[in-house]
Amino acid sequence: MAGIYFHVPFCRKKCTYCDFHFSTTFSGYRTELLELMSLEFNQRLNEINEPIQTIYFGGGSPGILTPKELEMLLKEPLRIAGNQLIELTLEANPEDVTETNLTAWKNLGINRISLGVQSLNADILRWMNRNHSVEQSLHALTLLETHGFSLSIDLIFGIPNQHIHDVLAVIELVDQYQIEHLSAYALTKEPNTALDRWIKQGKTAEIDDEMQIKHYYTIQHELKVRNFIQYEVSNYAKNGQVAKHNTNYWEGKPYIGIGPGAHSFDGVSTRRWNVSNNQRYIKQQEWFELETLSENNIWNECWLTGLRTVNGVPLDKLQLLGGLSNTEMETLKKLQEGGMLRLENTHYTLTDSAWLSADRLASELFRI
Ligand code: SF4
Repeated sequence: MAGIYFHVPFCRKKCTYCDFHFSTTFSGYRTELLELMSLEFNQRLNEINEPIQTIYFGGGSPGILTPKELEMLLKEPLRIAGNQLIELTLEANPEDVTETNLTAWKNLGINRISLGVQSLNADILRWMNRNHSVEQSLHALTLLETHGFSLSIDLIFGIPNQHIHDVLAVIELVDQYQIEHLSAYALTKEPNTALDRWIKQGKTAEIDDEMQIKHYYTIQHELKVRNFIQYEVSNYAKNGQVAKHNTNYWEGKPYIGIGPGAHSFDGVSTRRWNVSNNQRYIKQQEWFELETLSENNIWNECWLTGLRTVNGVPLDKLQLLGGLSNTEMETLKKLQEGGMLRLENTHYTLTDSAWLSADRLASELFRI
């Protein structure tokens, strides 16, 4: 079992670029919704047929939850997982990191924190409408280090007017703190966000693709020289500290997503989509949909997720899915000759310079 994912759909503020599912006005129904999430987990125990190895709190801003709320959500999953659990991650923002919370998180068994640093430039943080300052990030990192969590940080690059020095400042945190994992995301313009509106209104420049590419390769290089291994398009880890929960997603393992907006996968061909609407989730009427993946969907997902990772696409999996056609073999040969792809042992993997084009290259092998 890849694990259990809890989607906590609350945030203190709406970040400029964010299109995740969350609400900033939740005080009236907070407890009711969290209790329903706990109930949803208990109602879906029949879907768990392997040991639970990972639990992940994402969102939204799960760092908002009180220790009591986290304890309530974790009680049953932890009991069922027992000593099989290897990773319990909480996404947190710097303003959530206090001595009291850290002690509580440790006591609850949380062993990995993914911290939303994003930038160390005060102007950029303001522009992004983040709820924290540079000083709060640095303070949070110091506290996290003393409490001995496995630590990951998030960085956003390719922001209009962002200087490469701003990106490097975040990378250099790995020299100063015990950070063994970094996720670097290119800013994207998602529909119905403030960023989308500002660009349409001419208040913000369009995202500069060339700048993003430059930032991407600089990050790739700077982390490589610091002994970080790039194991996914946006993810880098040192000392083998890859995110196990997310790696299982990319490997097509089963997981159960709890909460509004959460997805689930049975590891074979069924996906479940919980409604991205807190009130509809609370009413529990038409609050999720099931999707059965076609053979072509499964094939396409195999390329889409596989090419995003260092493990690539295994030949035996392709064989199980019916094997490669002559046309697909031709496409693969062309990509290999073009230096984008290699066949390493028993896996097709992308070369370093092709990571950024992973989705486009995967789509060349799609079946429609
Ligand atoms: S805190 Fe995270 S989930 Fe919430 S609005 Fe900002 S980026 Fe989105």
